[in-house]
Amino acid sequence: MSRNFDSYVALQAALDLAPLMPGAFRFAKQFAPATFMCHRCGGHKPLKFDGGGTGYGVTTQHMVDRGHVARAGEMVCYDCAGETDRADMLTDGRAVLYLTHDPIKDRSYPFADGHVTNWPGTLSIKCRVKRGAHNIARYRYDAWFTGPDGKPWHGVQYGGNTQIIRCRRMKA
Ligand SMILES: [Zn+2]
Repeated sequence: MSRNFDSYVALQAALDLAPLMPGAFRFAKQFAPATFMCHRCGGHKPLKFDGGGTGYGVTTQHMVDRGHVARAGEMVCYDCAGETDRADMLTDGRAVLYLTHDPIKDRSYPFADGHVTNWPGTLSIKCRVKRGAHNIARYRYDAWFTGPDGKPWHGVQYGGNTQIIRCRRMKA
């Protein structure tokens, strides 16, 4: 019998209980399977127990302001999180994403193939990456890709210690 959490508050309350108390919950195999209700689509989605993320995202004030959800601090499924990221990219022409790419070894050819993704990885776009020198951060990474709007986008990341890349739709 699968247990379902209708709200983030209910999940937190169960996580706060001592492990052997009735109603307690942990992200451990003996508590699986369990689901949560996505605050955006209303679906009951599985919580994950494999250590690779919990299965849910939490709504932010930004999502509320954009009309994606009615309240902040509620659980949303990864699919809904990906949709709101895509919608924001179309509206804003800018996005903060994560950059991953193949290693760049050859200084005479500092290019590689990579991906820009959102946090849960529900939005993933192939990109071309170039590494350049930067006087403070040592490296600057430029990425070019086709956005969800079908237009060319460009992103910049400074230094190699972060995966965060700030991206914008290019002016035509
Ligand atoms: Zn959802």
